[in-house]
Amino acid sequence: MTDTAQTTTPARLLIIGPQGSGKGTQAARITELLSIPAISTGDLFRAHVKNETDLGKQVKAVLDRGELVTDDMTFSLVRDRLNEGDTGNGFLLDGFPRNAAQVTLLDEFLTPRQEELTAVIELGVPREVSIDRLFQRAQEQGRTDDTEEVISKRLEIYEKETAPILDVYRSRGLVDTVDGVGSLEEVTARIVGALSTRGIAAS
Ligand code: AMP
Repeated sequence: MTDTAQTTTPARLLIIGPQGSGKGTQAARITELLSIPAISTGDLFRAHVKNETDLGKQVKAVLDRGELVTDDMTFSLVRDRLNEGDTGNGFLLDGFPRNAAQVTLLDEFLTPRQEELTAVIELGVPREVSIDRLFQRAQEQGRTDDTEEVISKRLEIYEKETAPILDVYRSRGLVDTVDGVGSLEEVTARIVGALSTRGIAAS
């Protein structure tokens, strides 16, 4: 092996999993390995709330209730982020698309650019494990949307609206389901293995 190995398939990635699946942590690790930006809509919204921007003021209550922000508002945030100069080698979306309408919005954005997603990682964890991890995070980080009631609401929305979009991507042959239970390193290695089978590797 030399250090001049090339990425043969562009890394335009989506990571999907229920809240508490560890996808944010894995997104950070994978994007560092592949030298691409992680685009987390949850992080973008939380930054707006923290900085008390107009958008942040509009969405704060929605985030606190664990409900979804409107598709238009969410997409305009994603579109602006994808239009920044650092996505030429690819990107990893975390938290978007989250429902069928958002899948269409993303397709309508990528198609004229002659781009498409090249892999969708589904991070699978049993419901009890994600709930345990969310309660742990609530204690450690004090997120306002990590209360018991809001956690149940977010998992319910995931199951109803987000999990079904996996079928769309499955029909395009893009989904790799990765077991999300294990050490950080083990889970990262599984994701890296799945991506390299598709010709997506660190350059
Ligand atoms: P997350 O950190 O991905 O769980 O996102 C936190 C919150 O941000 C969600 O509960 C929603 O209120 C909002 N949010 C994040 N991504 C989206 C999205 N794609 N569509 C609508 N709302 C979103």
